[in-house]
Formats: sequence, structure tokens, C-alpha cells
Amino acid sequence: MTAKPRIRIGKYRKLLEQQKDELTRELRRLEDRAAGRDGEQEVVAGEDFDEPGGDAAMDTAERDQARALAREVREILELVDQALRRIDHGTYGVCEVCGAPIPAGRLELVPWATRCAACASGSAARI
Ligand SMILES: [Zn+2]
Repeated sequence: MTAKPRIRIGKYRKLLEQQKDELTRELRRLEDRAAGRDGEQEVVAGEDFDEPGGDAAMDTAERDQARALAREVREILELVDQALRRIDHGTYGVCEVCGAPIPAGRLELVPWATRCAACASGSAARI
């Protein structure tokens, strides 16, 4: 009897592809904001933009924040891409440190996880 604890790869692939879509859109939005191109939210009650001062300062802070967020989103996107590649290679859902299967519950929370919870918390240092 081979009762392997199978995870349903198709489900995670779909989950990851969804995440990728959302993250890509989010990243585009953040990059636009970081570049000062604010497509959607710039409804400033018909005011002119030729008013220097307070607004500009807030703008800069907002852009910095957008840039920082964009960096985070890009990192997650990279992880999502790697996870999709692991699915293609048949190594998805296996802890890269100890080789044990990553529990489905963890993959549902973090579908791009590369380590089981024990290894992820045990070694913060990258090997
Ligand atoms: Zn592990």
C-alpha cells in the first residue's frame, strides 16, 4: 500500500497563477505611483497642481512608500515564479532543507513556501 500524502498540485498552480496576476497588477500600480504617475486616485477636487509646498512633501513620502512596497511585491512575485517552476519540475511542496513534504495547510497560507515550518523557523540564515 502506497498511501502517499498527495497534495493537489493543480489547486496550488491555480492559486499561484492567481497570485501572480494580482501581484503583477499591484506592482504596476505601485510603480506608477512611485514614478508619480497616479492613474486612478488623482481626483483632487478640481484643484490645480501648481501649488508647491505641503502636497509635494506628502507626495514624496507616498512615492517612497510605493517604492518600498513595490520592492516587496517584486520579491514575492519572484517567489511565486519559482514556485511555479518547481511545479513544472515536480519538486513543488517539498522542503528544500530537509526534503520532507510541506504540509498542505502551510502551502495554503503560503503557496510559495520552500521550507516546512520547522526549517523555516529553525534557520533564519540562508544556506
Ligand atoms: Zn524542512
